[in-house]
Amino acid sequence: MLVRASIGSLAAIGLYDVNVDVKPTTCYLLQYSSSGCSAGCLFCPQSSSNTSSKEFVSRVPWPAIELETLLYNIGLGNFSRICLQTILKKDFEKEACDIIRILDRVGSNIPISVGTTPVSEETLHEFRSLGVDFIGVGLDVASNRIFDKIKAPFKMEDFWTFIKKCVNVFNEHVYVHLIYGLGENDSEFAYHMEKVYETGANVALFSFTPISGTKLEHLPQPEIEKYRLMQIIRYFLSKGYKLKEIVREDDGHIKLKTNINVHEIKSAFLTSGCPACNRPFYNERPTKIYNYPSLPLVDKEIELINEQIRNL
Ligand code: SF4
Repeated sequence: MLVRASIGSLAAIGLYDVNVDVKPTTCYLLQYSSSGCSAGCLFCPQSSSNTSSKEFVSRVPWPAIELETLLYNIGLGNFSRICLQTILKKDFEKEACDIIRILDRVGSNIPISVGTTPVSEETLHEFRSLGVDFIGVGLDVASNRIFDKIKAPFKMEDFWTFIKKCVNVFNEHVYVHLIYGLGENDSEFAYHMEKVYETGANVALFSFTPISGTKLEHLPQPEIEKYRLMQIIRYFLSKGYKLKEIVREDDGHIKLKTNINVHEIKSAFLTSGCPACNRPFYNERPTKIYNYPSLPLVDKEIELINEQIRNL
């Protein structure tokens, strides 16, 4: 059976000879379709409605590989987790369960996450019974205004219903993926992050990355300072704070209520997601890092981060 795997994951197990600055601690897999995913997400190179190469997810190449070949070598990667991401295609739920069954058999003790768009409740329970311990939900768009345009054919309400079902089945082991910079405003983004936490789930934060051949290829990446603000808000929401305790509205913009000591919240700037999900340079070049894949890298750039958050 063919799957796609991120080039960093393949390099970590020695199947690709490329230089990786930081090793992924999760092995990232994606369901395969030569024509891509039948959903119409405007930002995603996997969408069959975009002319982009189907070899990519965000800015990272994901070559196709036989699952058995990958699994034969997976021990060499020293991974702490495997993440399988679904795409929309005929019978994708059944295929995802088949892949997990094989992963569980061959990958043995490595915990498994599934990143997905809404699936049936029956499938969620099947994931659980097959040993999946975390679910990622690709909500992506944090605005009711633009959701339908950017993420057809999905509906925002269906996602919220699904997120609640995920929490029922997986408790707090649910990470809702949100991409900052798709055209929402800061209040909308912060409000949706708070709603995720109020629903009992967590946020996995991404920054928008324009990819050639997608409908949003000309949209710029968000300002790094604004992204830092969202990372700080996510950090405090995850610690149980309410949005109104973290920020105030100021002339249509949101501002932090208190000064932040960067050294006290270093983990706010790490990649957020399931345990051991570090997605190295998934939505950035190593020269301008949005999500840091490791604490030593945060430490290395701590003064730069401090400068970026100075006026928030
Ligand atoms: S947070 Fe990371 S490991 Fe979890 S589903 Fe999302 S990409 Fe996969």
